[in-house]
Amino acid sequence: MQTLSTPPVSDLSASDAAVASTVASEGEPLFSTTINRRKTRPVKVGDVTIGGGHPVVVQSMINEDTLDIEGSVAGIRRLHEAGCEIVRVTVPSMAHARALARIKETLADTYQVVPLVADVHHNGMKIALEVAKHVDKVRINPGLYVFEKASKNPDGSDRTEYTQAEFDAIGDKIRETLEPLVISLRDQGKAMRIGVNHGSLAERMLFTYGDTPEGMVESALEFIRICESLDFYNLVVSLKASRVPVMLAAYQLMVQRMDELGMDYPLHLGVTEAGDGEYGRIKSTAGIGTLLALGIGDTIRVSLTEAPEKEIPVCYSILQALGLRKTMVEYVACPSCGRTLFNLENVLQKVREATSHLTGLDIAVMGCIVNGPGEMADADYGYVGKQPGTIALYRGREEIERVPQERGVEALIDLIKADGRWVEPEADSQKQAVNA
Ligand code: SF4
Repeated sequence: MQTLSTPPVSDLSASDAAVASTVASEGEPLFSTTINRRKTRPVKVGDVTIGGGHPVVVQSMINEDTLDIEGSVAGIRRLHEAGCEIVRVTVPSMAHARALARIKETLADTYQVVPLVADVHHNGMKIALEVAKHVDKVRINPGLYVFEKASKNPDGSDRTEYTQAEFDAIGDKIRETLEPLVISLRDQGKAMRIGVNHGSLAERMLFTYGDTPEGMVESALEFIRICESLDFYNLVVSLKASRVPVMLAAYQLMVQRMDELGMDYPLHLGVTEAGDGEYGRIKSTAGIGTLLALGIGDTIRVSLTEAPEKEIPVCYSILQALGLRKTMVEYVACPSCGRTLFNLENVLQKVREATSHLTGLDIAVMGCIVNGPGEMADADYGYVGKQPGTIALYRGREEIERVPQERGVEALIDLIKADGRWVEPEADSQKQAVNA
């Protein structure tokens, strides 16, 4: 899982570290430039597989009321067409659970089968059992399996702890309640997400472990053990928090504990209540991207306070930036500076407009030849300022031709065509790119 293949640089002497920072003594690179993902078991959700080395799965949630069949079908379809691979819906009542049967049917009749997850809001097992018939995965929140009579001791004082016997007795009650759902999902070959939220830890976990990542992890482990005792292993685990450092700690601790216990369940990553706009995206990226870079995470959801379909490009951008999925053209462009020989922003925009459908290519737009060719070395094609009014086109590291700047984009397209790597853009190229 970790990217380091030898002791961390901080464990080496300064002179050793200088050498080791590029190459280890055996000639092996010290730092891998690809992410070594943690090995996890595959968990099927409809026709999508989470974990087991499969590409990181993108998911989101509609915000329509599940009782609104037409609206929900349209919301699920919008998300799926935007590239969302698994769609979650809320199921707060039995009527909602039954509505899912019709949503599923209508999707199949008017669009296609879409892997669906139901969010069961409390310990109403009848609802969960009903919905388990209609969806591919059920998400439960351990924090909502509440049996303790909160807050007060028999003498009226504030409760501050649970005895082991009380703790275990509640554990038995949870097991009893959860068992029929686990058996139903197991027998149908469906999946469950054990979705712990920092903001809704059960009281006995709070008192025993504190409002901490440890409490979140122990809460998840308690539910995992119940599932395992019933021979059910189609589990995905999440430990979301609205504060990035908390979720980072919780997921890393979960991995450590699972490694100790020989568990290999895939992880669903997310930052809850990330908000909207630029900061919502940055906050989600800080949490999700950091863990993915450590090799942790098999499915992601970026939670934005915006239309759900706006979450999907953010997910794909995080995955593309880390080299985990390639769903669009990778543009390498310099920030421009005093040496820039053309209007970089305009040219990049034009290049993007002409080539954004060529999923899989890396295209560089660099302002000058001083640093440009060296820094774009990994790109398939390069557009580089050569001298005022003239640009040079590159294939990899090789300069192919110099052309007047006004013919630059056209000449770039001609070069890609000559190499046989051009395809005509489709009307709905965005969707094609995202679904690639
Ligand atoms: S590539 Fe050239 S123009 Fe672009 S930032 Fe570097 S030095 Fe400046």
